[in-house]
Amino acid sequence: MRSDKGRGVNGNLNDFDSMTVQRESLWLAPYAMHSVDTAGREHKESSHAYRAPYQRDRDRIVHSSAYRRLAHKTQVFTGEKGDYHRTRLTHTLEVSSVARTIGRVLRLNEDLIESLALMHDIGHPPFGHAGEEILNECCANCGGFNHNRQAVRIVTVLEERYPEFPGLNLSKEILSGQGSRIKGEKSSGRGQALLEVQIVDAADSIAYDTHDADDALELGLLNLDELLELPLWGDAARRVQSEYSALDPQQLRRAVVRQVIDILVTDLVDTTTARLKAANIQSPAAVVGHDQQLVMPSSEVFQRKTQLEKFLFQHVYRHPAVLAERSLAGEALREMFQRFSEHPEGLPEGFRRHFEQRGVARVVCDFLSGMTDRCALEEASLRG
Ligand code: MG
Repeated sequence: MRSDKGRGVNGNLNDFDSMTVQRESLWLAPYAMHSVDTAGREHKESSHAYRAPYQRDRDRIVHSSAYRRLAHKTQVFTGEKGDYHRTRLTHTLEVSSVARTIGRVLRLNEDLIESLALMHDIGHPPFGHAGEEILNECCANCGGFNHNRQAVRIVTVLEERYPEFPGLNLSKEILSGQGSRIKGEKSSGRGQALLEVQIVDAADSIAYDTHDADDALELGLLNLDELLELPLWGDAARRVQSEYSALDPQQLRRAVVRQVIDILVTDLVDTTTARLKAANIQSPAAVVGHDQQLVMPSSEVFQRKTQLEKFLFQHVYRHPAVLAERSLAGEALREMFQRFSEHPEGLPEGFRRHFEQRGVARVVCDFLSGMTDRCALEEASLRG
C-alpha cells in the first residue's frame, strides 16, 4: 500500500508522485511546504493515481455540504439587504484568489493555500459573528462555540462522506493550519504557522477590509468621500485619478477598491520577501521555528490598514441598520437553542443519534451552526 505521504511503504514513488515531487522541486521555493513532506492523514489512505495530497484536500472541501452552505450565510450583511453583496462563499473565493496570487509570486504550495482558504470560514454559523456570539453564550456550560474550532470539528467529525472514517480525513497541515487560527491556542509552543497558513490569514484580512467597505458603499451605509479621507483610500484614489480623469462615481469606486487591494497585496509581497531574505529562511522548519511571523505588511501600510479597520468598525459593523439586523438574528438563534434543548426530539434523526456521546447542548449547537441564514430565519418564524 502507498501512504499519502507521497512515498509507498517500501520508499518508492509511483509515476505521478514522482512527477509531483519533480514539479514542486522545480517550482516551489525552499521555504514552501512540499507535498512529499506532508505528515499525512489521521486514517491511512492510498495515494491517488493522479491527484497530489493537498489537491485531494481541496476537492474534499469543495464537495462538502458545509462548504456549499456558505453560499447562504452572512458575511456582514444578511440577505435582508438584497443579494448583490458578498456572502460567506464569495468572501471565501476572494480570500482564495488573493492568497493564491500572493502564494504564486512567493512560490509557495498553491494547493495547500487553496485548501486552507476554502475551508477557513466553513465553521461560521448563520448570521456571522452575531450568530457566533449567541451560540458561544448558549454553550457556555459545554465548552462554548468558536467558528475556527467548529471548522476543525466539521472536517474531522461532522461531515459524513466516507464509510471508512468520520470527517474528511484531511492532511495534517490543513488541520494544524486551521487550528492555529483559534485565538488563545496559537501560542501553545508549536511555533509559527507555515507560510501558506500565514498567507491565508493575511489574504482574509485584505479581502474583508476591502470588500466590506465596497459592500457598505453599494448599500449606501457609507459614502466614498468619507472613505477618501483615510490615507489608504485617498492615495488609491489619487493613483486612479492620475490615470483616468473622468470617471463617474461608480467607476471611481470600483477602480479605487481594485487599487486598494493592489496596494495591500504588493506591499505584503514586498515586505514578506524582504523578511524571508533578511532572516535567510530556507525551509518550512525555519519558518515554524522563527521567532516572529514572516508574512507581514510594512509598518506604514499596517498603520493605514488598522485605521481603515477602526473606521469600518465604527461606521459599518456598528451601523444601526447592521446592529438591528444582528440583534433580530441573534434572538432567533437564542430562541431556537432553547427550544431544541428543551425538545431535542425535534432534531433530525442524524443528530438525535449523537445525544448520548456528545450531549444534547453540543448536538443542538452543531445543528444550529450548520444552518444557513435562510433556513434559520424560516425555522425561527415558523415556530416563533
Ligand atoms: Mg474569513
